[in-house]
Amino acid sequence: MDENKWSPRTRAVAAGRPQGPGEPLNVPIVPASTFGAGGDRAYSREDGTPTWEALEEAVGSLEGGYATAFASGIATLAAVVDILPVGAKVAVPTFSYAGSRGVLAHAHRSGRLIVSELDPGDTDAWIDAAATVDLLWLESPTNPTLDIIDIKAIAAAASTQPHAPKVVVDNTFATPLGQQPLSMGAAIVVHSATKLIGGHSDLLLGLTVTADEGLAKALRDARTRGGATPGALEAWLGLRGLRTLHVRLAEQSRSAALLASRLAEHHSVVKVRYPGEGVMIAFELPDAEQADRVCAALTLIRSATSLGGVESLVERRAWLAGDAHVPAGLIRFSVGLEDPEDLWTDLLEALG
Ligand code: PLP
Repeated sequence: MDENKWSPRTRAVAAGRPQGPGEPLNVPIVPASTFGAGGDRAYSREDGTPTWEALEEAVGSLEGGYATAFASGIATLAAVVDILPVGAKVAVPTFSYAGSRGVLAHAHRSGRLIVSELDPGDTDAWIDAAATVDLLWLESPTNPTLDIIDIKAIAAAASTQPHAPKVVVDNTFATPLGQQPLSMGAAIVVHSATKLIGGHSDLLLGLTVTADEGLAKALRDARTRGGATPGALEAWLGLRGLRTLHVRLAEQSRSAALLASRLAEHHSVVKVRYPGEGVMIAFELPDAEQADRVCAALTLIRSATSLGGVESLVERRAWLAGDAHVPAGLIRFSVGLEDPEDLWTDLLEALG
């Protein structure tokens, strides 16, 4: 798709469609592991499928690079780890998706990588780290504390280093419509398309995107080796989700902004974190007991892990071992497509 001619929202709808007379407008779900000998592709784990490629074309167009689809968001991190040499130094935010920190901590414990954690908001510390580490794993906004990391400043610092450390950005919360880290200097963007891209909590899916052909090949080779390939249906559903991302994001963000401002005024709420846009809010109650009580008292908003779907979800994050350092009463709130006044009614009743 012509990136200069068509806007991102248009490309989210139009990219990755078969072209030409008689072609279906939607890429078919191709549940094939193998293809007739002598063609462009032989085996899907190695050569991809038309369904994966349609999704990759669309997300690649939005992020500005070559996309590779994976079985899950965490599989994209596994692929990034796979292409690093043994002993590579990696910096990761102290507050960021617990699963990602868990994978990196495991690689550290096993001697595969040397991993350090940095405060997401301490830009100077990240800039200093660029001089010594090989990879800066950023996530912005962060899960679940919604910190904003200065991607541009950190990527600019990394670009001046002779050893060329790679900046990788987990763009799951921002989405490819909200932020394009490659244009901010990142080398690789990753997504858990399980979340907002899919948008319906009915699949697991991940994507990497890079503008560097060599890195794109390395990541694709890592997928071939690791075997974390997406399912045919999941890739198709992910692309279907992407088609409506713009309207979901706009509507759910509008509701999130409204609810964040109302929560901030509620006497039971100690603190509200909302970066000003996006569908995610984190609000704090005084302690774990009160937060658990509120989560259990909600009747419309479901208490469940995950985020980014059309249905609103809450979760007290500190119950997870990997998020035990998050404030005990912090509730992560993924705002869905329900009527925001109904969501507020549910919150008010639960907050008592
Ligand atoms: N990145 C972020 C920011 C996440 O929130 C998650 C999951 O919650 C992941 C990555 C991992 O994605 P997946 O569950 O699709 O493997």
